[in-house]
Formats: sequence, structure tokens, C-alpha cells
Amino acid sequence: MKIIKILCIALIVSSGNMFAQQEEQKSGKTNTNKFRQLYDEFSTPNMFRTGSGAPGPAYYQQQADYVIDIELDEKNKRIHGFETITYTNNSPDALNYLWIQLDQNRRAKDSKSPLIETSTITEAQIVSDFTKSFLKEKFDGGFNIEDVKDINGNTLAFTINRTMMRVELPETIQAGSKFSFSIKWSFNINNHITVKGRSGYEDFPDGNSNFVIAQFYPRMAVYNDVEGWQNSQFWGKGEFALPFGNFEVNITVPSDHILDGTGRLLNREEMYSREMMKRYKLAKKSYNEPVVIVNTEEAEKASKQASKYNKTWKLYAENVRDFAFATSRRYLLDMMAVKIGDRDVMAVSLYPKEGNPLWEKWSTRTVASTLLSYSRMTFDYPYHKAISVHAENLGMEYPMICFNRGRPNSDGTYTDYVKYRLISLIVHEVGHNFFPMIVNSDERQWTWMDEGLNVFLELIAEQDFGERYPEVLSPEHKRYPTRRGFPNQIIPYMGGDQDYISPIMSKGLNIHQLGNNAYAKPATALNILRETVMGRELFDYAFKEYANRWMFKHPTPEDFFRTMEDASAIDLDWYWRGWFYTTDWVDIGIKDVKKYYVSSKPNDYARSYAEQYKIPVDSLPPMVFLVEQNSYEFEPIMQEGELLDKSKPLKAYLMDNFTEAERNKIKQPKYFYTITFEKPGGLVMPLIVEYNYIDGTKEKVTYPAQTWRHNDNEITKAVASEKEILSIKVDPEQETADIDESNNAWPKEIIQSKFEKFKSKSKR
Ligand SMILES: [Zn+2]
Repeated sequence: MKIIKILCIALIVSSGNMFAQQEEQKSGKTNTNKFRQLYDEFSTPNMFRTGSGAPGPAYYQQQADYVIDIELDEKNKRIHGFETITYTNNSPDALNYLWIQLDQNRRAKDSKSPLIETSTITEAQIVSDFTKSFLKEKFDGGFNIEDVKDINGNTLAFTINRTMMRVELPETIQAGSKFSFSIKWSFNINNHITVKGRSGYEDFPDGNSNFVIAQFYPRMAVYNDVEGWQNSQFWGKGEFALPFGNFEVNITVPSDHILDGTGRLLNREEMYSREMMKRYKLAKKSYNEPVVIVNTEEAEKASKQASKYNKTWKLYAENVRDFAFATSRRYLLDMMAVKIGDRDVMAVSLYPKEGNPLWEKWSTRTVASTLLSYSRMTFDYPYHKAISVHAENLGMEYPMICFNRGRPNSDGTYTDYVKYRLISLIVHEVGHNFFPMIVNSDERQWTWMDEGLNVFLELIAEQDFGERYPEVLSPEHKRYPTRRGFPNQIIPYMGGDQDYISPIMSKGLNIHQLGNNAYAKPATALNILRETVMGRELFDYAFKEYANRWMFKHPTPEDFFRTMEDASAIDLDWYWRGWFYTTDWVDIGIKDVKKYYVSSKPNDYARSYAEQYKIPVDSLPPMVFLVEQNSYEFEPIMQEGELLDKSKPLKAYLMDNFTEAERNKIKQPKYFYTITFEKPGGLVMPLIVEYNYIDGTKEKVTYPAQTWRHNDNEITKAVASEKEILSIKVDPEQETADIDESNNAWPKEIIQSKFEKFKSKSKR
């Protein structure tokens, strides 16, 4: 009896091959389990940033307040500026110098930025490209820093290292103290169509230009607990890291210009005509449609002759990380109000007549709709306005203002493609107000933290937009045709050439395929996380928590990763590891299906088992014997209710241990399966399986991702069923971005029949 007892335990415990011989001792190994915690990759929590992903009790951030006077020299396309920066050192550290960003220096004649790009001779080149590459004199850009002085007018020593300027201090700025200093500068504005860039001017045939101006002033770099000074050079890619502050900006432009920018317009009554003020007051009460404040006729009239006089627009912004503006005598202007919580926010558009009829119809409505959608997913938009400015070739964001491309043909016609791309771009750039303008991540280091989160919310906002304005949809579109973020859309990238794929957790400058890497993939990862892994309720709560914790602060990737776990009770280290730290892809399939029936007699397996332990077969403990369908031991298939008749030991056991009522309730499966699932793709994902039964019913089972924790390559599942399984499908609704579906079905014929269908279709 004792032997049998031991055997019984062995039988229950060993789920693998019980006849396996003791293997010889293998060498040791380190932990490569995909579910191990991310302690090696994450920074250690501390008093600045906690293990929960929230700002810690010692969290601080620096403040940079600006007073800036600038003058646009329209004729010479030059900007002259004078700024006073008051820098507040909230860190516990004493600072001996300050770093200031000189982004315009990327376009200086001696800039090293173009030199890091690789280039080659293409044997047939578009004339304009050839001219630009080899014939044209280089644009003379870059800041001319005239002087840097302290508040008493004493000159401060400074050193310019390309796009960064170090200002030496007369004395150390102690923790908690402030330092004020001023910079006088000028620079040539780039033509953003021919020279390119993230801002600049565009010329029009009537002799006038539109100016969309950003990175126009020397900007404080970020100093924080993570990087010290974030003074990594600006090479063109890898956007910006900026501290928050208050901006008082006075902008002098020709008096016939229409201008708007970051912040409250302090002298609107002085700058607007009476008629404009009247329309503006109407716009403030117009919640359903934009009110035109400057119309085509008025803009055309202003464009006929440039004014000789100047005027100064005064703007004031609190708690922003940057400042930008747009100015031209060619601009049309419209606005509408949108209720965010219990506040009114103004949605604003500035565009030349070339933008119509597209812009007057969609721009301001898109701004308003975007603010509503993003506010729902994060926090109420805290600023008083959001502006969309039309600038050809650009798509660029700043606090309260963004520059967007998308223009109809010269006869006013446009394709669906142009319409959707314009609306999507406005959603995207207005959305950047939330990430990174308010949830102020370090763009220089982590492009995905603003772009990825923003594209994820863009998808939601676009779907909302299609519902809010169904008339925007063409007849063939049931929903808004969002371009990025759905699982299937990322497959070509994730299944592509590994030489050109970088992990998401890479510095923006060094990434291959920036758009796919830092925009589409993280957005898709978050969308799948929301829809398939966490569910909307848990995801949305945690995402909102992240946005609110880090609103007007500087989060790091870990702060995001940790908060999403902390607020949801879902261990996601495996998910972040796979999607964000590797370039693995998803491929999960069915390798093998074995079908078993209950047999009345001891089978081969039982006989070998008895033999190994040298006991007679009939001395084995009571057992149920299962025989594979294809084996020679196979018996005729059971009929309904025959399970107990087939297995005498089972029947005896139930008679001895179960009451009659209990016996009447037992399930009587007839079909038994072992299904082997394989995972050729490195990414761990939930195993979503649809079982289709012979009676036409189906059942979807989602095995959590942790089902792969002991074997990353293949796992088996035993399934007992009263109905025969006709077919099995993995990821039936294509929600995991599985790059190879040829192994997703059993039997394989399903795929073939699809192929046959295709073949017969193409013959027609
Ligand atoms: Zn973006």
C-alpha cells in the first residue's frame, strides 16, 4: 500500500513526462524570466519620486519667469529681443552656473547638426532637392547674443557650446534663492518651407509673409533630480525640456498684423478694431459654431499695402513651459467657446485665405472637440484658450498654440485624405497641450512620453470627433479613419527588419523610424493595454491618476509605469519590459491539438507505468484511462451519458464518495483535448482563444499573460467538453498585433479555405 501511495503522489505531481531519466546537472543561469520585476531597469525610488510613481515629499522643480520685449523686422525677416529671466532655485543644491538653450543655433552657419546626418548621391534627383543640397548658400541662422548682464547692468561671462549657453554667476545661487539676469539677442528668421524647421515664415505671391515664431528666445534648460542640468544638445530631432514659469511678452509688429500667442492678450481693446471686439464678444457666447472675427475681405484689404507703423501686443501667461506666437496681415481669425468643467475656454483659429474652405469649417471645431476629449481622459484643460494656426509643412505644438499644415488645392477642392489629415493633425497638436506642455516630460530624452501618450489620446479624440460631427465622415467610413494606434496598424513595423527597430525606451535622437517607434508603437501598446490587458475601467482610472499626479510637473518613464500599476493592482512589469524595453513582436499560435476519449481498459500508458514500478496493472490505484483518437487502442466513441459506464473505477469512486444529488449534478464530458500553444514571438501577451463547437456555439477564453511564466515558448492546456470542438482560433478579434496569423487556427484548413476563397475571387 505504501508504494502505491507514493506512486499516487508521483502521478499527481508530475505533469510532464514521468519516465524522463534524471538529466545530468546543467550549468547555472541568471534570471531571464519575462515576469521578473524591473528593478534593474528602473531607478531606485527616493524622496523626490516614490515607488508608487508619485512625486515624493522632497519633489521640487525650478521656475523660470520671463519678461521679453521683441520686435519683428518684417522687411529683413529678423527678430530683435531683450529678455529678463528670473530663475528660482527650488532645488536643495547650490548652483554655480546656469544653462540656457539656444535652439536657433542649430541653423547657424557653423552648426554641426547637418554633419551627423549620413548622405549619398542619388543618381536622379528632383531639381529643387539637388539645388538645395548642392547649389544654395547655407542659411545664416543662429542667435547673435549681444550681451548677458545681471540686474545691475554688470556683464556676465558666458560660454556658448553650440545649442547650449553656460552663464557664469557672480556668486552661487543657494537653495531657495532667486537670480535675475538679462540677455539681448537677434536672429534671422528661417523660411520654414525652404530652410525647414519647427517655426519660421512663409512667403505668399502678394508679397506678404505669415510668421509662426517659436524657439525665438534663449530658454532656460531644466535642472532636476534626475539629470542635473538637462543640457543635451539640440540636433534637430529630440525636442525640448523646459521648466515652468510666468511669461510677460510684448511683441512689436507692423500695425496691420493680426497676432495671437501663448497667454492672455492684455491690450485686446487697443489691438482689435471696434468691429473685431463686437464679434469677439459674440464668439465668447457661441458654443456651437465659430464666429469669424477677421474675414477674407478684411485680410485681403490689409494685404494690399503694408503699414509703416508698428504696434505692440502684450501677452501674459502663467505656469507655461514655453511661449510661441503667430503674426501676419494675411490672417483670418475665428473663435468659439467651449465649456470645460464650469469654465469657458476659447477655441481659436488663425489662417490665411489659402486654408479655406477647409479651415473655416473644421479647425476651430476640432480644437474645441479635442479639449473636451482630452479633458475627459486626463484633467480639465486649465488654460483659457487653445489656438490652431495654419502654417504649411509644419505640425508643431506650444502652450495654448500650435502650427498645422493641411491646405486645399488652389481652386478650393480637397480630397478626403487632406481633410482627415488636417483634422488629425489639429487633434494631435492641440492634444500636446496636455502632454508635454502640462504633464511636462523631458522630450529631449524620451520622445515617446509625449508623442506616444498623445497619439494614444488622439485615437480616442478622433473617434469622439467622428461621433460629435458625423458629417465629417465620408460615406465609406463608419467611424473616423484613425491612422495609428489600432493593433493591426503596427504589424508591418513590429514584424519588420530588426536592424531598423529600436526599443521604445531609447533617446529620441538615436531612434530608427521615429514615427513608428515613438508615436505609433507606444500608442498601440497603451491601446492594447486598455482594451485587452487591463480593461477600460482600470486603465482609465490609472491613466487619469498619472495625468493628475504629474500635471504641471516633470515625470519620468518610471513615474508613468509605476503609477499605472499602483492605481490598478495589475502587475505590468512584463508588459513594460516587452513592449517598451525590447523590440520583440507578438506571435502566438496553435502548434498541436490531441483529442482523447475515455477507455474501458487500462491503456499502454498505465501498463508501462505498472511495469516500471514492477506491480501488476490491476494493483494500480483507481484510474481513468484516456486514449488518443489516433492510437490503436482507440475504442468506439462514447454515447451521451456513457462516461460512467466506460470507466468502472470512476463509477465506483463516485458511488462511494458522492450523494445521489451530487452525482446528478456532475458534468459528463465526452471529449478531451490537449492543446499545445506556441509563442514564436518574444512578446508575452494574454492568450486569447476562441473554441468553436460542432453545434455552432463558441466560447472565448482569455488566459492571462502569466500563463507563459514557466515556459516562454510553448504551453499546453487540457480541455474537457461535452461538445466536440470543431475549430480553435487564437486572437480571433485581432487585438494583440500578432504579426503572423498562419499559426492562429486549428485545423489549418481554415486559413487555406480563406486562401481558396481569395483564389476563386481573383479568378472572377
Ligand atoms: Zn507630436
